[in-house]
Formats: sequence, C-alpha cells, structure tokens
Amino acid sequence: MKIIWRRDKDNPSFNKPSVYFTLGQINSGKSTLLEHIGINHLEKGATVLDLFASVDGENLAWLRSDFVKNKEILLLKGENVDVESKVLSLDVKTVENISLKDFERYDFIISAHPLFLNREHEYYSIGKLIDLLYKRLKWNKLVCMIAREASSLWYSRVKYSDSQTDMKNAALTMFKEMRHLGVSLALDSLRLQGIDIELRTHTDYLFVKSQGIDGLPDNLTFLYSFYDPSWIRSMKSWEFALVCRKGALGIGHFPYHDWHKVEREDIVNKVGLRIEYGKELEKPKDMGTFKTIGDKEHLEIMSLYASGLGFNKIHEQLNRSTKSLSDHIHKHNNAVSRSGFCAICRRAEGEYSQKVVKRGIVNND
Ligand SMILES: [Zn+2]
Repeated sequence: MKIIWRRDKDNPSFNKPSVYFTLGQINSGKSTLLEHIGINHLEKGATVLDLFASVDGENLAWLRSDFVKNKEILLLKGENVDVESKVLSLDVKTVENISLKDFERYDFIISAHPLFLNREHEYYSIGKLIDLLYKRLKWNKLVCMIAREASSLWYSRVKYSDSQTDMKNAALTMFKEMRHLGVSLALDSLRLQGIDIELRTHTDYLFVKSQGIDGLPDNLTFLYSFYDPSWIRSMKSWEFALVCRKGALGIGHFPYHDWHKVEREDIVNKVGLRIEYGKELEKPKDMGTFKTIGDKEHLEIMSLYASGLGFNKIHEQLNRSTKSLSDHIHKHNNAVSRSGFCAICRRAEGEYSQKVVKRGIVNND
C-alpha cells in the first residue's frame, strides 16, 4: 500500500503483532483492505487466520487467489459437515483436532460459515479456537487474524469460551493480550460507532474508509480539519485515511485485487468445494422417568462393546439398562446389514458407521 504522511510517519511493518481496524460504511472496501493486510503479513511469512465473514462465505475467495498456490491450507469445519476440494490440496478439520502446532504449520487457516451446520456451531468453534490461541505462550510464526465482523469475535468469546467475561472486556483483553501471543488483529466493525475510545487507544492502525452520509464518529471528527469532508464521505474503495496510535496521520491507497468475492456470487462452487451437511446430532432427551440415549452415547456403546465389554460392564459404566444397550447394538447392526451404514454413527462421525459390531470384534463386511 502507498501512504502519504501528513503528520509524522509510521509505516506498518506487518512483521510484528499489531492491531488494525477498519472503519467505514457498507461497500466501502473494508473487507478487501483486510485481505490486503493479510497479504502483507503472508509475504512476511505469517499465517493468515480468516475467521468471521458473511454467511455466504466471502473469505473462501482466498482459495481462488494466487496467494494460496504452493501454500499449506487448512479449512475449519463444524461437526457433521463433509468438505472436499475438487481443485486444491488442503486439510479440513474440526476445532477439536487443531493444536497449537497448526498455527505454525499452515499458511492459511480459514473458518467460513458454509462449513458449519449453523451459526451456533461456527461461534462455538471460533470460541474454542481463541481459547487455544490464548495458550500460545511461545511462538515462531506471526498469525494475522482477520475478522470481518469484530463483534462476532467478542460474542463467540463470551458465549463459547472457558473465560468469564462480557463483550466489552473480551474485546479489550483481546486487543491487549493478542500481541503477546504473536497475533495481529485485522478487524472490521459493521456498526459505524463500533470502535469506542478505549478500543481505539489499543489500535495501532485505524484505517478510515468512506463514511457516507453519517460522517465520522465524534472521536474522529478532528480528521475534518486535515482532510476534505467530501472526500471522507465518498472516497474510492481503494482509498483510506490512516490514524496511527502514536499520532501519525496519512492518506493512502492499496491495489484493489480482483479475486475478492462479489455480491450474489456462489463462492463455494466457484472455488471448487463440495460440502455435504449431515443431520444435527441428537442430544439425550429427558423423558421424566428416563433419559433417551443421544448420538454421542450411541458411539460410546459401540466402542465399549467392540472393545470386548459385556452388557453388564457397560451398564456399570454408563448406567443404562442392559435391555437398552442391546437394543442399540441391534439397531446399529441391523442398519449396517440392511443399508450399509448406521445413520446415528454417520452423523456423529463414529468409526463403526459402516461396520457390524460384535462383542470384542468389529466386522468389516
Ligand atoms: Zn451406530
């Protein structure tokens, strides 16, 4: 990107943990700018972690850019979703199968909404991923975390992580802590007033994009004395004004790349992904006098039985009647013999989904 400095000078290096925030109205080119910040990090050897995007999977557009060529790519998916790429060699994992090493090993880690059964699953997965990042006390490779909807990031942190906090504090802590964990934040907020003064003091680079008719939030109106208000209202999508934490001020532009997802485009198809959705896992239901066996417990019964335990031993472990245990084994084996698979095991991604289970033996045919 090219920056013309008006007051002081503070060129972003993209090779140390920093906080980047974009502020602008819808369609002002914020998302493309975040991608550009990601590209700059990538070129300095960092991992791009692209977390929150629109429900139509805007951040999957990386997969058709030249930047993914010869790079290690990991897609995050939720439970009960099958993902396959017809064109790229890439890995697909659920958050449970991710370790800290993956942040060093991959060049791209992308969590896109179409790879989850629903928003809840997506929030859950990202909450857990951030928990993991908080354990990254030693690191060699910088991570550039892009979130195109920053408030979703705080939300998933509050709702689905192990931490006890509120949205405001989740945001503040993240701004302060992530730099110690080797993570740059590149964020966007849909709300015009979405970045309050406290967050701003922890933002290293605030990119101000076109503000439209609403104009600048109160704490930024001083920019009108440096730059033409009509330009701030209607600047081009590749232009920005830059406010730095240490006081530098400038304006600039960046190369507006053409692989960015456009409106109404079926990006999943365009990048050659095949996605299949399973059914939602069935949870145990409380029926008053008894509790039904949920999908997870069904898997447990299969694996305990296959490992050689008898109904009495399994009964001791799971506190289920031997009758319901044997019912489930029968149900499973009947399904496999009849239709080749057990639907419960398949949606819960169990290892015996296509196998007849006998006590102590797994039959492959
Ligand atoms: Zn089964």
